[in-house]
Parts: sequence; structure tokens; C-alpha cells
Amino acid sequence: MDIIANFIDGQYQTPLGENYLDNIEPATGLVYGKIPDSEKADVELAVAAAKKALPAWQAMPLEQRADMLSAIAQEIEVRNDELAMAEAIDNGKPVALARIVDIPRAASNFKFFAHACSQFASESHAIAGTAINYTLRQPVGIVGCISPWNLPLYLFTWKIAPALAAGNCVIAKPSEVTPKTAALLGEICQKAGLPAGVLNILHGSGAKVGQAICQHQEIKAISFTGGTTTGAQIAQLLAPTFKKLSLELGGKNPALIFSDCDFDNTVEQVFRASFANQGQICLCASRLYIERPIYEKFKQALVDKAKALQPNDPLLDDSQMGALVSKSHLEKVLGYIELAKAEGGKVLAGGKQVNLAGRCQNGYFLQPTIIENLDNQAQCNQEEIFGPVITLQPFDTDEEALTLANDSNYGLAATIWTNHLGRAHQLAETLNTGIVWINCWLLRDLRTPFGGMNHSGLGREGGHEAMRFFTESKNVCVKY
Ligand code: NAD
Repeated sequence: MDIIANFIDGQYQTPLGENYLDNIEPATGLVYGKIPDSEKADVELAVAAAKKALPAWQAMPLEQRADMLSAIAQEIEVRNDELAMAEAIDNGKPVALARIVDIPRAASNFKFFAHACSQFASESHAIAGTAINYTLRQPVGIVGCISPWNLPLYLFTWKIAPALAAGNCVIAKPSEVTPKTAALLGEICQKAGLPAGVLNILHGSGAKVGQAICQHQEIKAISFTGGTTTGAQIAQLLAPTFKKLSLELGGKNPALIFSDCDFDNTVEQVFRASFANQGQICLCASRLYIERPIYEKFKQALVDKAKALQPNDPLLDDSQMGALVSKSHLEKVLGYIELAKAEGGKVLAGGKQVNLAGRCQNGYFLQPTIIENLDNQAQCNQEEIFGPVITLQPFDTDEEALTLANDSNYGLAATIWTNHLGRAHQLAETLNTGIVWINCWLLRDLRTPFGGMNHSGLGREGGHEAMRFFTESKNVCVKY
């Protein structure tokens, strides 16, 4: 049995209440570990450790701080295969995907912000002949980072790296559904020589330890990635405290596919955008709008590919589609497929749970699923399913495509597939999403602002946006 501990003050520690939650392997449906069911008292310990570590961490020369983040990145790279396997067991994602995407990206997050902190600068504003203003950007202090289960180490480090780079001490909580790689990050920080108390990692449920982190008076900012409903709860909880809050929430991302697209490449890329990580990426395409002249041909190409993609044991090197993250999540996604049918949808491919033989016979596998014939206002086109399920709709004009795409409460990411340059730029300008990809998907430059509008969140991560979030700006005005 794999028993995980909290990482507080540079050491692994059992939860004070001695309570644990089960950790289940999605590919087998079996309990394979225990994780701390931490509570308020554990948060107090972590905050005390962070408070003790904060003055020295803030006073540390920038170059030394950056070297430590680089050392963490290097150690993640050294342990790539082990971390990828841990991620695949914990999350159900294909190990090959974790090896080339999740874990390298976690290393890049630390590498990127090790450099970013040395490039981060603030402004000055002169009032000619009278005064000069200069802006200080100072660390917030102790900050909380809370992350979801879909890209466990990747998203955990996407918050922690800029928070540390900006000179804060961190209390971080990974999802209780996928805690394993976050737990290993403690060892990595020890090896890299990160001072005790600078990063503290607490495990447990959102309702208990997550909420206690949000409510702690000495934690001055919360960076949260997760569901929109949870984000709303946290926003409500924090409103009277005026804490800094960054929310990266759900999506219902449109893909706009035009007749003049590069057909084969678009099929390939849109398929990947739909089903990568079992469709469990906040940026995955879920509503596909296809221009009518190519609708049937494009649909058929997607259906053929979906029928050829079989979920398999994620620990096998050649597995391209693994298990959904949990039984409850699988049931939720299956529920949406039933709802789609009730709403008049036609299932063109998939739609059923897959029962594999052998070790994975009780795993949470689902066929890649394609549905058409649903109205844009159908629940399955308006609510986030967050699984391997996409819907298809034809459109006739650019205006119609735009109207359908923007007809959503969410506003995270959109993709446009066309060779018409003017149309692509014009649509990019008018789509209500924080991110637009043209003829590509998930091509990431860590300097760019990352995040969504409306129900997809508040604020942006990435590059200097993240450094700004994790600092307080203070203007100093000096009269001549
Ligand atoms: P979730 O909201 O259930 O949980 C996310 C994290 O919040 C977990 O660590 C959880 O323990 C914690 N939490 C839950 N309730 C809490 C509370 N009351 N107070 C404090 N913490 C609490 O989300 P999930 O199911 O883990 O993740 C899936 C969701 O995340 C999807 O909606 C997906 O779109 C979204 N997501 C968004 C992005 C983005 O960048 N916008 C990225 C990945 C995932």
C-alpha cells in the first residue's frame, strides 16, 4: 500500500488527525494507496513553517533563487520516467503521454520561471520637471495554490513555480484524486536544496483542507484551477477577505472548421484536440462547428478515427487512450451521453463503457464518442462534460459559426481551421475566449497570457501575468 505524507517544513509528516483517504488507480478501479485527509491544524503547521522561511527566501539574491528553481527542473527531468509512471497509475492517462507532455512540461514550468524572475521589471512614470513615480513589485507573502486532477504535476507546478519565483512561500494542495506526483515533488525540492518551509504540500479534500487554505488569514492570495462551481464557491468565500484571487475554470471550447482548411492535417489535429488525455483537458475542443460543404466528409473522417482508437491499459507504452479519472467521473460522462440521446442526439461513434480483460477489467474506460443532431442550446452543448465526448454541427456562414461559438457561458479556448487569413484574424478578434488557436491546438508559449473569460475564470496565468499576480505593486512618488 502506497501511503503518502504531507510535506511541511522540508519534511514528510503524517496528518495530525491521522485520517486518510483512499487513492484509487483508475485503470483497475482498485485502491492502491492512502493519502492524508488533512485539516485546519495541518494548514496551521504549514503556515507556521512558511512564515519562518519567508524572510530568508525574500532576502535571497535573485540569482540564487533562480538557481534553485532550475535545480528543481533538472531533478524533474532526471526522474521523468518514474514521474510519468506515477502519473499514469494515479490518473489513468497513457504513460507515453505523461512522459512526453506532463512531466517535461512540469520541468519547463520551473525552468521558465527561473528565467522569468530575472527578466521581470517594473515601470517608472515621470511627471516632467516635477516628480518621478516608480513601481515596486513585492512578493505577496504566503500564497495558496490549489490544482485539479487532469494534468496533475503540470498544473500544480504551473502555479508553484511563478509563486516561488516572485519570492513567496507556498502552501499547495493537489487534487485528492491524483496526489502522487505532487507528493514526490517534496523529495525533488529536498534534493534541489529548497529551504525548508518555502514550499509546503498538503493533501486532502477540497471541502476540508482546500477550504482551510482559502480561509487562512495569513495566506494572502489564492491561485485556483478547477471546476467553475468550485471557483464560484471560493470566490464567495474570499469576497469579504479581499484576498488576491486567480481562477482558471472550466471550458466548452468551440472548433470552427472551414471548407478551405488543410483537410487531412485538420482532421488529425482536431481529433487530438478532442480526445487527448481522454478529453480531460480544459482546452479540449468539445463543440465542433463544420462548414456544410465538408460536413459529411469531415464527420466520416472523425468517426473512422474514433472507431480505430481503442482505450487500453495506460501503463502500456503503446496505449493512446487510457481510463477516465474516477468512477464518479465516468458515470457523469456516461450520464451526459444518455442525456444527449434524450435531447435528440445521434451517437455516431462510441458512447459505451469499455471492459478490458485482465488487470484492467474494472477500469474506467470509455470509447471516444461523437454525437450530432443536437441543438446548440442542448445541455450537452452548454455544459462542460470533460470527457471523450464531442458534438458536431454544420454551419453555412462565418457569422453563423461565430454566433454558435459565442453562444456559451464559458470562454476559455477556441480553435479556427482555415487558410483564409483575413477570416481567421477577424474571427480571433470577435470570439469570446481568452485563447484562440489558428490551425493548431495546445501550441504553448509560456510567456503568453493564459486563461478564460466569463465562466471560465478570472485573471490570467503565464509569463509576466503570473509574476504580477504573485506580487503586490506599490507606487512610490518622489517630488523633485
Ligand atoms: P474541482 O473544482 O473539483 O477541484 C479542483 C481542486 O479544488 C482540487 O484540488 C479540490 O480538492 C479543490 N477544492 C474542491 N472544493 C474546494 C473548496 N471548497 N475550497 C478549496 N478547494 C477546493 O475540479 P476537478 O474536478 O479537480 O478538475 C476538473 C475541472 O478543472 C474542470 O472543470 C476543468 O475544466 C477545470 N480545469 C481548468 C483549467 C484551466 O486552466 N482553466 C485547467 C485544468 C482543469
